Amino acid sequence: MIGQSRKPPLLRVALRIADGITADGRRGDLHSLTRDFRHMEILWGYVCRNHERALKATRHGLGRAARETLVVGRFDRDGLATSLDRLRQSVAEYLHPPGVVINLGEVLAELQAVEEEFESTDWDQDTLWVRTDSIELGGINLGRFKIKLSLDWIGVPNPEAAYEVVALDPNPAVGDSEVTHPHVSGGHLCEGEATGPIRHALEQGRLVDFFHLVDSVLRTYNPHSPHISLKDWYRVECVSCGESAREDESCSCRACESVLCDSCVESCHQCSETYCEGCISVCRECGEPSCSACLDPCSDCGKEGLCGSCRMMCIGCHQEGLCCGCCKDELCSTCIKEQAREDDDEEDEPKADIPSQMLLSADAGVHTDSVAETTVPVPCR
Ligand SMILES: [Zn+2]
Ligand SMILES: [Zn+2]
Ligand SMILES: [Zn+2]
Ligand SMILES: [Zn+2]
Ligand SMILES: [Zn+2]
Ligand SMILES: [Zn+2]
Repeated sequence: MIGQSRKPPLLRVALRIADGITADGRRGDLHSLTRDFRHMEILWGYVCRNHERALKATRHGLGRAARETLVVGRFDRDGLATSLDRLRQSVAEYLHPPGVVINLGEVLAELQAVEEEFESTDWDQDTLWVRTDSIELGGINLGRFKIKLSLDWIGVPNPEAAYEVVALDPNPAVGDSEVTHPHVSGGHLCEGEATGPIRHALEQGRLVDFFHLVDSVLRTYNPHSPHISLKDWYRVECVSCGESAREDESCSCRACESVLCDSCVESCHQCSETYCEGCISVCRECGEPSCSACLDPCSDCGKEGLCGSCRMMCIGCHQEGLCCGCCKDELCSTCIKEQAREDDDEEDEPKADIPSQMLLSADAGVHTDSVAETTVPVPCR
């Protein structure tokens, strides 16, 4: 047993448990008590009204009517008597819940027995705990566990969340760090068939039985109801196909972080990051899988969703990020026009002494031809 400075004496813990059960009765069934009291209240209202009616009839000299009223009211008066008996019973059960250890000596003896039975036991103002030995199931070492029982829940009918199971040397399932044991998730033990016995042991203040029961559930593996089965302890579940995969044969989606097996993962052909089916897009130009971070619009026409390979640079003006519609023969539309004008100028030079009228018509012809030539669409891929 580990000594602690702020640890209260065992007798004080026993007093607190016994007190909680017996003194103010707060461990009893408040719901039944309230229901029985309300029922009695309603019947009492009927009895009072019946009595007033009978009195009124007497005052008006209607003796026979008064007698009849009182006869009719006898059912309510009988019901009131039964209801009062039931209320008396509920109050008694509320103050001393049936089957509960209510004797301080008994509580203290239970606490001492826990200390003797379990190698490592400790307590503070609010909790009593026991440490289990190291537990191994199906060849997997799950380490030691601490069973932490809250003192407030001892002796309570239908105790819930009365205790917690904490892994001291956690070796959680690869697929869920909250699952530290096939039957423990987030500190909550799935008791299975032991639910009733554990509950009754707590209700009746049988603390040794309680700790033994929880300890034995932790030492038993039920392959029908685990949070994660032992065979999948080191495996992860693919969110896409639902199959389990070895940890080294899986990866996660960079966007939504869901776990995927090797066959369900999509990879961006630009940055090679892994994504799930829902988070990956495709390039609108080449149709290759791409992540949204690797897709950009054309810097000229604004066409959306183009991957890096489908956004080109004009070799004339070096404008980058052009779609294949805006970059033909490696030139942007501005550079194509520019080149066409230069070609025209070159052809203009030898025609220096041709009369201006002729020059104009020839010029027009050359211009149209050269533009037509340069704007012929070139397949980009
Ligand atoms: Zn899969
Ligand atoms: Zn995703
Ligand atoms: Zn990418
Ligand atoms: Zn592309
Ligand atoms: Zn474009
Ligand atoms: Zn250009």
